[in-house]
Amino acid sequence: MKNTDTYYINLEDKFGAHNYHPLDVVLARGKGVWVWDVNGKKYMDFLSGYSAVSHGHAHKKIAKAAKKQMDLLTLTGRAFRNDQLGKFCEELCKFTGFEMFLPMNSGAEAVETALKIARKWGYTKKGVEKDKAEIIAFANNFHGRTITIVGMSTEQQYKEGFGSFPSGFKVVAYNNIEAVKKAITKNTVAMLIEPIQGEGGIIIPSEGYLTALRKLCRENNILLILDEIQTGFGRTGKLFAFQHETVAKPDMLIVGKALGGGYYPVSGVLSSREIMSVIKPGDHGSTFGGNPLAAAIGRASIAVMKEEKMVENSKKMGDYLLKQLKTIKSKWIKEIRGKGLFIGVELIPESGGARKFCEALAKIGILSKETHDMVIRFAPPLIITKSEIDFAIKKIKKVLETK
Ligand SMILES: *Cc1c(COP(=O)(O)O)cnc(C)c1O
Repeated sequence: MKNTDTYYINLEDKFGAHNYHPLDVVLARGKGVWVWDVNGKKYMDFLSGYSAVSHGHAHKKIAKAAKKQMDLLTLTGRAFRNDQLGKFCEELCKFTGFEMFLPMNSGAEAVETALKIARKWGYTKKGVEKDKAEIIAFANNFHGRTITIVGMSTEQQYKEGFGSFPSGFKVVAYNNIEAVKKAITKNTVAMLIEPIQGEGGIIIPSEGYLTALRKLCRENNILLILDEIQTGFGRTGKLFAFQHETVAKPDMLIVGKALGGGYYPVSGVLSSREIMSVIKPGDHGSTFGGNPLAAAIGRASIAVMKEEKMVENSKKMGDYLLKQLKTIKSKWIKEIRGKGLFIGVELIPESGGARKFCEALAKIGILSKETHDMVIRFAPPLIITKSEIDFAIKKIKKVLETK
């Protein structure tokens, strides 16, 4: 039958590659924290497109900026200049406290970009011998899906069948300073880390860990690269997760997801003038990176973050949601942890895994997604209100308290 959810699911399964295992809700419309499926059933979005929809769905102001730019100019390639990119870079740098921005589209591309900049910096500034540069990454990481990036992954499925992988990467334990120290050599140019591991299961390192890494990098002339594609732009209750520690500012900050306001892939690398200057014309690029439509949307997305005090709201509502979640009495819960509106509920193995809880939640109108087998991730749009959280909590309680 046409236009039923089964119809859309079959269509997608027949003609679309099966590289995901989605919950079988077929969404057709969104507004703020709410989405509606093709049958008109309403759900609250507690995932926000893995933090790409932090502004909420169909934000009017971002839509307006996008539509305006669509009627003017959308793509020039970087062969020519456009009147949006410079303003976008300036506004983003001022908002985040960095000096220069290199625009890309997807998160994985931005990670690749940071790795390239780090290697070039290593060869031209640090004086590492040709092709010897090493970059340290961390167990349980998630940085995207390109060959280089999955080469650094410790998740078997991400790698299996995709080798061989580039050399020059070392993977050490997360949240263990001694392990990092041991991995450093004279050829180490950078370390790449998520300040809180998102896909890894909302893993929050001990207090002081990032500060210790920052210090270690400085002492050994190594670049600290933070991947805040998921944790950035208010998700954890600060503009960036590294700001939970006052002296952990990285040499390069990778951003994406929420920067596009839920409308468009906008990513990139923020850094200092000194480091960014190792990249010369022709060294790196992207046809779509920095296009005027992306830039206009990025500008609107930043403006909305400020106007609607999304970072502050994430802190306030995140504290409230965490407190409410902790009142739930369920024999299935092992631990509840989080910062801002970035919360993981880890279940015990006897629970049967997080997937079936997410499916049960979807049935009663709350969309969330398991990450790894045992963690339910709660990451609603940062514009969520207290009454919306109260609505969700009742349902979450009901599902988690089932015997
Ligand atoms: C989502 C994500 C990426 C990859 O971004 P894509 O846009 O999917 O390529 C990289 N790093 C982190 C921490 C992410 O959460």
